[in-house]
Amino acid sequence: MFRDATEKDHQDHRNLQAFTSLLTLVEALSTITEQTEHAHTGGENVPPITLAEAGQAFADITQQVLECKYVGVFVLDPPDECQRLLACSGLGPKEAVSLRDDTTGVPLAAYVNQTIVAQLHTDQVVTIDLDSEPFLSTSHTRGARYRLVAPMMRRGKLCGLFTIARANQEHRPIQNAYTSQEKALARGIARLATQIIERVSLLQERAESRAKELEFQETTRRYEDCLSTASHELRTPLTTIKGNLQLSQRRIGALVRHAEQFPETLAGLQRVEQPMREALQNFGRLERMISEMLDYSRIQADKFILRKQICNLVDIAKHAAEDARKELEPRPIVLNLPPQEDVPVYGDKDRIGDVIHNYLTNAHKYSPTGHPIEINLSVEKTLARVSVRDEGTGIPLEAQEHIWKRFYRAPGVEVQEHSLSDSNLGLGLYLCQEIIELHDGQVGVQSIPGQGSTFWFTLDLAERPNLSPSST
Ligand code: ADP
Repeated sequence: MFRDATEKDHQDHRNLQAFTSLLTLVEALSTITEQTEHAHTGGENVPPITLAEAGQAFADITQQVLECKYVGVFVLDPPDECQRLLACSGLGPKEAVSLRDDTTGVPLAAYVNQTIVAQLHTDQVVTIDLDSEPFLSTSHTRGARYRLVAPMMRRGKLCGLFTIARANQEHRPIQNAYTSQEKALARGIARLATQIIERVSLLQERAESRAKELEFQETTRRYEDCLSTASHELRTPLTTIKGNLQLSQRRIGALVRHAEQFPETLAGLQRVEQPMREALQNFGRLERMISEMLDYSRIQADKFILRKQICNLVDIAKHAAEDARKELEPRPIVLNLPPQEDVPVYGDKDRIGDVIHNYLTNAHKYSPTGHPIEINLSVEKTLARVSVRDEGTGIPLEAQEHIWKRFYRAPGVEVQEHSLSDSNLGLGLYLCQEIIELHDGQVGVQSIPGQGSTFWFTLDLAERPNLSPSST
């Protein structure tokens, strides 16, 4: 293959040189990716390296390692493989601008002939004589007529070009313009360039999605702050209006009692009574919504305060059942208690009562009037279990795992006519779960669509130092 030993030595020397150049390049490039990675993984105050900066560093290093007039790195944008100069090194500022202007947005097929395009597509390194390319004028050579172009391939597809241009005076005939070692080196460098570009752009995408996530978190925080402020500010005026409405309702009631012998006045007063009742009902709904939103924002801000003490779950269940009987009349409410009178748990009795109340209002909201709602309290070993069973619409299986999420409302589960004025923010069960989990307990549901639902929670039994049932 080699004519003599000198030629072989010469060849070995060039191979070694090419290999050393490639190693130097790899070493230099690893610092770019390390910096980039550091910046993108939250390195303190290090601005992230952009794709253009990485490309520029890459072109500069290559230009230093290889002796050539200039180095260019082009990205080919789909769908027409339009060229975009990512970076170039070795050209003066004016020449760099003119190279960018000449190439930006120009499809590859409008720049070089079809044979070259085909060669690049099949991952071949080509030498281009810019003087003879039909689509270019000689002014485009920038004193470097022969250009060595290596394709940048990503998953088997052409995605960019890596070009090296040697100055004119070094020109030999085109076939000798670049040696096979230089071509191999160009191919190796183009592969490295692809890796770098891909890595930097991945890191950039990751940084962008992290920035979006942070922005989303910030927006959510502001939204929750606003919700909390609005709920607080609404509470005071609403309480005053509600007080005035209740007072007016009582006064109208008294006037009605005194106006029995004046039929016209009586009818007039009764006409006012009805809208007054409705207004108060709507107030109840507003109050519940505001209280849910306040609790929600307190939980989000870690400001949800529980007043825990040892309390009797039997008493809590009894109170909840009594309140429900008044509130949900004429709905039958059945309460099943365990044999023992004291079921001590360590917790906030008002908040545990809120959970039972919420289960009960949901059972009422989602089941037809007349069907009973059952509250069961039982004790098993060291665990107390409270459940609320209804004979309502039930919950589709696929919705059951989502119902504890904030603002979730199961599709197709309609609120019954009698509860249309209730709060339906989709926060109730979320708050129940939070409250029970803050007591180290568990919540759950069993439901068969069309047959009803049983919502339950469990709490650890507490040891009562002083067994007095009145201590709740
Ligand atoms: P909402 O204010 O909408 O009632 P909740 O958080 O209390 O919010 O409940 C979430 C969703 O779970 C409800 O919108 C409803 O679809 C479903 N759900 C809750 N309780 C019942 C129940 N007893 N029967 C049927 N569906 C229920």
